[in-house]
Amino acid sequence: MEYQPVIGLEIHAELKTDSKMFCDCPNEPEPKEPNVNICPVCSGQPGSLPVINQKAVEAVIKAALALNCQIPQFSKFDRKNYFYPDLPKGYQISQYDKPLSEKGYIEINNKKIRITRIHLEEDTGKLTHPEGVDYSLVDYNRAGVPLMELVTEPDIESGAEARQFGQTLQMIFRQLDISNADMEKGQMRVEVNISLKKNNKMGTKVEIKNLNSFRAVEKSIDYEIERQTDVLDAGDKVAQETRGWNENIQKTFSQRTKEEAHDYRYFPEPDLPPLAISAAQVNQLKKELPELPQKKKERFKEQYKVSDLAVDFLTSQVANGKMFLAVFFENAVSELDNWLKHRKKDIDEKKRQKLIKLMSNYIMTEFPKYVQANGKGLEKITAENYAEFVDLIDKGDISSSAAQMVLAEMFKAGGDPSHIIEDKGLKQVSDKDSLQKIVDDIIKENPEPVKDFQAGKEQALQYLVGQVMKETKGQANPKIVGEILREKLEK
Ligand code: ADP
Ligand code: ZN
Ligand code: MG
Repeated sequence: MEYQPVIGLEIHAELKTDSKMFCDCPNEPEPKEPNVNICPVCSGQPGSLPVINQKAVEAVIKAALALNCQIPQFSKFDRKNYFYPDLPKGYQISQYDKPLSEKGYIEINNKKIRITRIHLEEDTGKLTHPEGVDYSLVDYNRAGVPLMELVTEPDIESGAEARQFGQTLQMIFRQLDISNADMEKGQMRVEVNISLKKNNKMGTKVEIKNLNSFRAVEKSIDYEIERQTDVLDAGDKVAQETRGWNENIQKTFSQRTKEEAHDYRYFPEPDLPPLAISAAQVNQLKKELPELPQKKKERFKEQYKVSDLAVDFLTSQVANGKMFLAVFFENAVSELDNWLKHRKKDIDEKKRQKLIKLMSNYIMTEFPKYVQANGKGLEKITAENYAEFVDLIDKGDISSSAAQMVLAEMFKAGGDPSHIIEDKGLKQVSDKDSLQKIVDDIIKENPEPVKDFQAGKEQALQYLVGQVMKETKGQANPKIVGEILREKLEK
């Protein structure tokens, strides 16, 4: 490609704290009514004074530590002045030249994406513009909610990479349990800065706002690369501007040009003391960090030898700071180990691996039917019963269709699989001796297919297996039946 895309992201995430950033109003993600969580501080009344929310500061430090950032000992808040009806004070308390953290990075596909800074600020209210009336409505429930802003260096080179970066951050925020980071609900917001570089010469950057899904982040970048390429190819200049994303036509459109840019007249917030963050505080928070997604993935591959696909799946969902599928899987493996230890002196590692693989396979293919994205649905099934379940499959005690029924019951009512199999009469017959007689009968009753098979027609065997399955109401183990048939007919 003649032009090289240069992309930097600015990402906001609403922090999951009990109270707002500078007052004790509840920080409710989805309040039922407008303007219920407000007070003189967050509605900007004269004479009211802000107080820093310690939990919000700690949340940003946790994010900073997870993202390899430095945490300066000195940090302060500043006023960012502008007038807009959703901003009750006429300024936003933010951080300008002394952010809480800076100079971090994360790795995406073995490539470092540098993080310039992460700072803390407050969110604005929400405006709605009802149709057919000459007024707008404002809801200050969100005004003053703690907001974390993360800015990257322009190290990203494609829409897909930006999406991956955003999704990785989302997972980290969720695992740290500092933000729900739901893009659709505006809890995480991504702004894109994009320009095209040619022969090492930087181009003019365009900012894209109002992207409310990772797909929109990716698509808007792809579109903007094409658009800027066309502009430059035609010999024109890319205008420095802010653009929006039109989801319906999948195109960006101009919203605001540089001339209308704000002068925020930043100055230190006089109502708040600067923050002094001690090394001891940072170390304490470091100790509280959970195992982060990247580390967990590497450990799972190493420890359980499961495929990349399985690892990605197991670590794909987090609720309340818990990677619930990964946790369930690990518990199940440890139950399996306990159990193997009890039954045998020497654990056959090959068999163990096989069972672990069965575990991850069923989690990937069957669990999505029962478990929601927030982890609901996993309450009844226990790790111990699940370990037994895969062992029963492996032993041939249940067919794969019976396995699905057993699992459904384990999710619905709980209970251990051997009882469910008994209660529902799902036990698969794998014992050769007890199948001999039925196979003999089927051979006698089906001379034509028998002849076909002996003349080399493989499908005829499948037909005969099917007849045995019918006769046994699906309880015979089809693999074993096939083997018996072969033994008898190939003689
Ligand atoms: P501004 O002063 O316009 O806000 P910043 O330097 O603060 O610009 O950068 C904002 C974002 O834009 C950062 O994510 C940064 O990486 C990105 N950025 C800076 N220069 C460019 C560029 N030439 N092309 C694309 N993104 C850029
Ligand atoms: Zn308040
Ligand atoms: Mg900037």
